[in-house]
Amino acid sequence: MTDDIGWGLIGASTIAREWMIPAFRAQLDSDVVAVMSSDASRGRAYADQNKIAKSYHSVDELLADPSVRAVYISTTNELHRDQVIAAAAAGKHVLCEKPLALTLEDARRMVDACAEAGVVMGTNHHLRNAATHRKIRELVQTRRIGTPVAARVFHAVFLPEHLQTWRIDNPAAGGGVILDITVHDADTLRFDLADEPEEVVSLTQRAALAKAGLEDGVMAIIRFQSGLIAQLHDGFTLGHAGTGLEVHGTEGSIIARDVMTQQPMGSVLLRTAAGEEQIAVEHENLYERAVRLFNAAVRGDGTPAATGEDGIRSLALALSVAQAARTGQRSTVVRG
Ligand code: NDP
Repeated sequence: MTDDIGWGLIGASTIAREWMIPAFRAQLDSDVVAVMSSDASRGRAYADQNKIAKSYHSVDELLADPSVRAVYISTTNELHRDQVIAAAAAGKHVLCEKPLALTLEDARRMVDACAEAGVVMGTNHHLRNAATHRKIRELVQTRRIGTPVAARVFHAVFLPEHLQTWRIDNPAAGGGVILDITVHDADTLRFDLADEPEEVVSLTQRAALAKAGLEDGVMAIIRFQSGLIAQLHDGFTLGHAGTGLEVHGTEGSIIARDVMTQQPMGSVLLRTAAGEEQIAVEHENLYERAVRLFNAAVRGDGTPAATGEDGIRSLALALSVAQAARTGQRSTVVRG
């Protein structure tokens, strides 16, 4: 037996096929050894298409496989909780997709289960792996814009047709733009600003795609501990808006464009009294970096890019955005 990290996929998902399987295989020290699907024939076809040796029909079977050292959970959101808890009980390290769960209580149980089992747990918030966001965080921390006062996130996109499934029609699966996109904004703002959210106001809409009980557009304003206020706009129905993030401070502004994306791309501009400076960014595949850091953590070196605790805190902000929209009241962000 080698020291390689054998990954088992819980969920024959699009994100695994498009991004994560290549990211696991880009590492020198890991490979994908098995996949679990609730549909046996789809699981077998998925395994064949993605050159995965074994396909399982149940989580228990996959967890009983000794060649699986770590699991990547990318099922629909309502399934994450029980699958994470089962994986931890089986002694497997866990990288779980966002949102960790549908409630903070569930997310806390998942993180605690991993801690008690002594396994590494990460949340797959990819954006903090982007070279652009790491640069924004560095510019903020080195006070290149003085004291940060306000931030804005533009993250309204068009949901591709092949993803117009549970995200737009299944509240029980954790559909809707808030649990899909706002939770990423939450993690990115927390990371870029090194600040924590305190309270939220928001409004949602059903612009075109979302079915009853779900939203496909949201705008929110968040107050952070430092006093900074941040504004975000997320959507599933806008194909031409473009994405971006801005941080405005007492001494300057950071203007980042095309940075709320899975692709390693985008630009970061610093504007101060001295003029405009295009900040050099060395792009790197976001998911490959996430897996590299996770694998290192399994070997005892550091922590995942986004930990389980990050998953809880970012979920807490997203749930506050949802609550504020539902009640029409200001929502205090709960410390999960
Ligand atoms: P998918 O809809 O592709 O997959 C989710 C589940 O749906 C799968 O586990 C699978 O069940 C089932 N499924 C997949 N394809 C089919 C099909 N053709 N027919 C019937 N059922 C199918 O979801 P995503 O990959 O878009 O998202 C999965 C998770 O990853 C979510 O938690 C999401 O929030 C997260 N995500 C994270 C991203 C990131 O950048 N961090 C980006 C995109 C998604 P089974 O496994 O039982 O076969």
